[in-house]
Amino acid sequence: MVERTFVFIKPDGMQKRIAGRIVSRYEEKGLELVAIQKLHITRAMAEQHYAEHKGKPFFEGIIAAITSAPVVAMIWEAPDVVAIVRLMNGATNGALAEPGTIRGDFAANFTDNVVHASDSPASAKREIGIFFPNF
Ligand code: ADP
Ligand code: MG
Repeated sequence: MVERTFVFIKPDGMQKRIAGRIVSRYEEKGLELVAIQKLHITRAMAEQHYAEHKGKPFFEGIIAAITSAPVVAMIWEAPDVVAIVRLMNGATNGALAEPGTIRGDFAANFTDNVVHASDSPASAKREIGIFFPNF
């Protein structure tokens, strides 16, 4: 069954100038790009996006990080795309992410881990609603 996921390249990924390489990885995997937009995430959007983490010690840090500079937000589509993109991105902590994954290759810590992707089809629907209300 065709599925959608929501991805954004975080400000540290933009600063590393690897947005194109990340998009290429998903394309080469055979995923379909549905929508793409560069935007500066507002505090309100960030808090809504990371609502599940409110109150955790790293919450303020991730809000500050993703609102610090523009991101590239995307919707990708394919069968099982949520799981595929999570696998391609690698473990949350870049220091522990497997080499060959995006975080394993381009990130070395927790906060600056290059990329976000939805963790379930329900999360994808919710997050797409925040960033791409017309989709
Ligand atoms: P993921 O991005 O892999 O879905 P989470 O949803 O658990 O990970 O966390 C959201 C983001 O918060 C992570 O991408 C990471 O940047 C940051 N983060 C998560 N856990 C920690 C932590 N223990 N310390 C610092 N930052 C963290
Ligand atoms: Mg998450």
